[in-house]
Amino acid sequence: LVNFPYKNVLVLGLAKSGTAASEVLLDNDVHVRINDRNANNNDKDVVELKSKGAEVILGEHPLSVLDNVELIVKNPGIPYEIPILVEASNRDIPIITEIELAGRLTDGMIIGITGSNGKTTTTTLTHEMLVKSEQPVKVAGNIGIVATDVAKQLTSNEKMILELSSFQLMGIQTFRPTIAVLLNLFEAHLDYHKSFANYVEAKSNIFKHQTKDDYLIYNADDPNVVQAVQNARAVKIPFSVKKRMFDGAWATEEAIFFKDEKVMERKDIVLVGDHNLENILASISAAKLSGATNEGIQQVLSSFSGVKHRLQFVDNINNRFFYNDSKATNMLATKKALSSFQQPIILLAGGLDRGNHFDELIPALENVKTMVVFGETASKLQDIASKAGIETVVPVKDVEEAVHEAYSLSEADDIILLSPACASWDQYRTFEERGDMFIHAVHTLK
Ligand code: ADP
Repeated sequence: LVNFPYKNVLVLGLAKSGTAASEVLLDNDVHVRINDRNANNNDKDVVELKSKGAEVILGEHPLSVLDNVELIVKNPGIPYEIPILVEASNRDIPIITEIELAGRLTDGMIIGITGSNGKTTTTTLTHEMLVKSEQPVKVAGNIGIVATDVAKQLTSNEKMILELSSFQLMGIQTFRPTIAVLLNLFEAHLDYHKSFANYVEAKSNIFKHQTKDDYLIYNADDPNVVQAVQNARAVKIPFSVKKRMFDGAWATEEAIFFKDEKVMERKDIVLVGDHNLENILASISAAKLSGATNEGIQQVLSSFSGVKHRLQFVDNINNRFFYNDSKATNMLATKKALSSFQQPIILLAGGLDRGNHFDELIPALENVKTMVVFGETASKLQDIASKAGIETVVPVKDVEEAVHEAYSLSEADDIILLSPACASWDQYRTFEERGDMFIHAVHTLK
């Protein structure tokens, strides 16, 4: 840990990232106190950390755990307004997340990627582009791989790509990626951040400590982003799907460009969706700036069919094209998915009823010729479909039945799209489980 002056640290919230943070701190001779509400004294990680010298307090968050503490490493999921954190702020104890530790573990190149939407897709694309270009690189962060775990094993010539959430970015002090990417800024997570301004501030932490030797890749089409990056010190690299960029990535109907260089033809790109074009431009920019070749980029984009469950191309069966967008747990995401296709769509939708109505969906249903609905919201969606003038609407039991029904109603060249516009919890444990069901059912059609 570089320049790490703290000797007494409280790790709040164990989970995977808290465990990794504790290990790093213990390895650096820091006294670690761990406080977690849910962990158990018999958990393997707890036993191991105790044996390495950690002090462990489980079950509740008594204010006394703050005594003598100089720094808190907080799990990103824990809200700042719980009493112990309010008290910590009264006592002026700094609060960081594990990302800050990861940044202090390496002086290699870090590529940090954030935004309200598209993080995982952009992170995955950038990673694959560098891999295909034979660059030594590792990926971690919000994508589900603990950053400190990766950072501590990094060799000096390896780059680290980090997907970063606003929750993670709120807790940084010095973290400075060589390349930062800011994809977009929509209103999100306002329950946690309290205001849009706070949310933007958290996201802006990604470039806060950058200097003129670093790069900031940003979406020139998003006014919130343009405003946020105004005073950034790094070299700014804009991208745009709308206009020519002299300093960054842009696109015409035919091709993708980085500055004045043609990178590849649009017709060779598998990934669909206007929003994915933004993710593509962002990832090409990050990849080009960190050593990717056009060949590497082309290889990835001519085969990559989407991150699992996010408008992921699943299969072509007798010229019916199946897409899994199970991650679309709200109307906004489903609208995006629907606007990605020009062909006739058979839409599979439904799920947990949150009490909302679906009128907003109607204008987006233009290309939908058939709807297959399931779950708690089935009858609501049935009403919406008839309001939208869709003639065939079929209620079914679940996603599996929906696939079979959709296939039997389909014609060649149809898009069969699972984009539920609802959470999955009425019938499935997670959106992943729902999407896996879909994929499985599609494969059984063969
Ligand atoms: P994140 O990791 O930020 O949640 P993902 O890459 O997992 O983002 O994509 C999640 C969903 O967000 C996608 O299914 C799509 O509906 C939407 N999305 C992806 N990229 C963008 C983008 N650039 N702009 C707007 N929406 C997007």
